[in-house]
Amino acid sequence: MERRRFLKLIGCVPLLPSGMDFSGRVMTVEGPKAAGSLGKTLIHEHFLVDFIGADKISATRWNRQTVRKAVAPYIEKAKSEGIQSIMDCTPAFLGRDVHLLREISREHTIHILTNTGYYGAVNNKYLPKWAFTETEQQLADRWIREFENGIEGTDIRPGFIKIGVDSGKLSELHKKLVRAAAITHLATGLTICSHTGPAPAAFEQIELIKKMGVRPDAFVWVHAQAEPDKNIYPKAAQMGAWVSLDGMGWGEFEGYATWLSQLKSEELLNRVLISHDAGWYTPGTNNSMKSFVGYTNFFEKIQPILRSNGWKNSDFDQLLIKNPEEAFTIAIRKL
Ligand SMILES: [Zn+2]
Repeated sequence: MERRRFLKLIGCVPLLPSGMDFSGRVMTVEGPKAAGSLGKTLIHEHFLVDFIGADKISATRWNRQTVRKAVAPYIEKAKSEGIQSIMDCTPAFLGRDVHLLREISREHTIHILTNTGYYGAVNNKYLPKWAFTETEQQLADRWIREFENGIEGTDIRPGFIKIGVDSGKLSELHKKLVRAAAITHLATGLTICSHTGPAPAAFEQIELIKKMGVRPDAFVWVHAQAEPDKNIYPKAAQMGAWVSLDGMGWGEFEGYATWLSQLKSEELLNRVLISHDAGWYTPGTNNSMKSFVGYTNFFEKIQPILRSNGWKNSDFDQLLIKNPEEAFTIAIRKL
């Protein structure tokens, strides 16, 4: 056994070797940055998603230059709204391509954060075969290694953990992914974003990570807009979890404005994240401009409604600057 891991097991040293403590910073594809440098951030978008499945996916299915050309006008439009950072939420085996992300980051002078973790939703179609057989510790070790050493032979490290679970009661396999995410969090301080949807699976996951010793503020309830009972958001927010209303690329603008105003009136805006879940280039399709969803509906469709409801610039800064910075600053959040 490696000495460091042995020492960790007997509780003598932190997991990460010295020089690997990035706490207090954020991890972009260009390396660690001061947390305050993120600026206006979209916390859940996509540049490329390939739905072919974990058994068939390969980076030969797309051409990076073609993808870059397709996303460029949309990124520039987001920048014209003041966006300085975008979190790419495409997980491994769904088209995560860190070379592409670094190229986009450089081309547009924009911070991009990528992720580690596995996406179990859609009946495990996007899980590699070892996810079914390995233990939560073995899976976590793989994710922690990406943080320690870089992803796929690069020096690009993940800036957050992205997992995905199906809605309803968590399967044993999905519980394992959540536990692996909790272990990874405790070793790295990376925040856990879980593709979740309706509330029951969100609360089950929050309880699960608490049992593993992780505070709920290390957990982002991704796609919370899919929960029909909006009155349950405060419960998650009061527990400390981040409520992510992140489908603004896809309509329901009045709805988003209403839910956000409700959370504001309950003084819970400091637990809310927003984004579009938009994009993206899809390998194997014609990728017409029509099929691409831009990253600016919040500014064009929702912000005007909120302004007419009395929202101030400081409220928008809370959602787009302060909260992303707090949520994704690397910090071990132990119970
Ligand atoms: Zn997404």
